[in-house]
Amino acid sequence: MNHTYVLQHCRLIPQLSEEGAPELADIVIRDGIIAGIRESGKKTYEGMEVFDLAGKTLMPGIIDAHIHLSMTETNPAEANYVDPCARTLRDLKYAKHLLDIGVTTVRDCGEDRYFSVTALRNAVNEGTVQGPHIYTSGITMTPTNAGGTPDSEFGYMVPYNVDSKEEMRKAVRINFARGADFIKLYGTGSMMGKGSVPGIGIMEDYEILEAVKIAEENETYCAIHCHGAKAIVQALNCGVRTIEHASFIDKEGLDLLAGRKDAGIIPTLSVTMELIEHTDPDSEYGKHVIPKVSALLEKIRICLNSAYQRGDILIGWGTDQSLAAYTREPGSEFRHRHDFLGWNNADILKQATVNSAVLMGIDDRTGLVAEGKDADLIVIDGDPVNDITVMYRKPEHVFLKGTMIR
Ligand SMILES: [Zn+2]
Repeated sequence: MNHTYVLQHCRLIPQLSEEGAPELADIVIRDGIIAGIRESGKKTYEGMEVFDLAGKTLMPGIIDAHIHLSMTETNPAEANYVDPCARTLRDLKYAKHLLDIGVTTVRDCGEDRYFSVTALRNAVNEGTVQGPHIYTSGITMTPTNAGGTPDSEFGYMVPYNVDSKEEMRKAVRINFARGADFIKLYGTGSMMGKGSVPGIGIMEDYEILEAVKIAEENETYCAIHCHGAKAIVQALNCGVRTIEHASFIDKEGLDLLAGRKDAGIIPTLSVTMELIEHTDPDSEYGKHVIPKVSALLEKIRICLNSAYQRGDILIGWGTDQSLAAYTREPGSEFRHRHDFLGWNNADILKQATVNSAVLMGIDDRTGLVAEGKDADLIVIDGDPVNDITVMYRKPEHVFLKGTMIR
């Protein structure tokens, strides 16, 4: 390729940039990689392609570490009836939307039974279509339980009911054979599933241990959907890397995570708040989900704050929300972590970038404005460290591996 250009007069955020990076910098990008970071005004770039950012903020692209690209319909029941080829195209529509609002890396935590997200990831990697970097779990592993069977409202997403070590081994191996990047387990009931209890553990140690073992043999890891405190402790003791949602995490779980870089939690406030703020209260779905989630909200706030306030827990970024919700409000996760949880702006920005990269084990490639990393970058008109509301709207520009998307 050998395409080199310079982003000039970029305002960098120290917490999201390499150590010692100047506050106002020129960034040299070569073949999609950040090749140099220099103090602005020290050098002229004669004969080179230069793009002047005029003091606007340059930061890493957002990493959404918990999403389902197959969740394009507002009502989950509708999704059960989308045909497989149409599904892949809808996944692509969602992926393109994410890229447009500055999400340059996506971790899909459970796709449909046709592996449409895996197909999309392959198409992106081949260069057939343009989309964010995608890491997919394939199909989720869900023990037989209320709200988690193929005939439930989420039937398109949860077809592997695993109820023994042998069934787990088989299902995990099928996922890897089909190209999964990691494995997603269900350790507790869910907020959304009818009859499902989020606080209650549903998986046995020997099932989790088997999944973790085979994931490690494939040089990757397990993520687990876990709201309840006991199930979180169980999962961590079995070697699971990322705790999804982590709604009711307690001191025992936090002690197991203290100071670690190889495990952490991925809260998903957007989906929880979305269920309350935007589900039709008169619909069948609304009638069961709104009272159920509302009753748990204060406890979620207290538990997530106990994780944050310790300062030694790796907290990542997830939204778990549908395309419709993401379209309505691109920055809802920023809003909820700021308004509902009261977290510090710089910490929130780290969660959305570098922390998630570390949790996913891709920090060698992305998550920081640093020499040698992919040029997955966004340009923000404003200073998000002082005013997080600038993240509620689309960034001014998006770069994916050095290519300007817009
Ligand atoms: Zn999810």
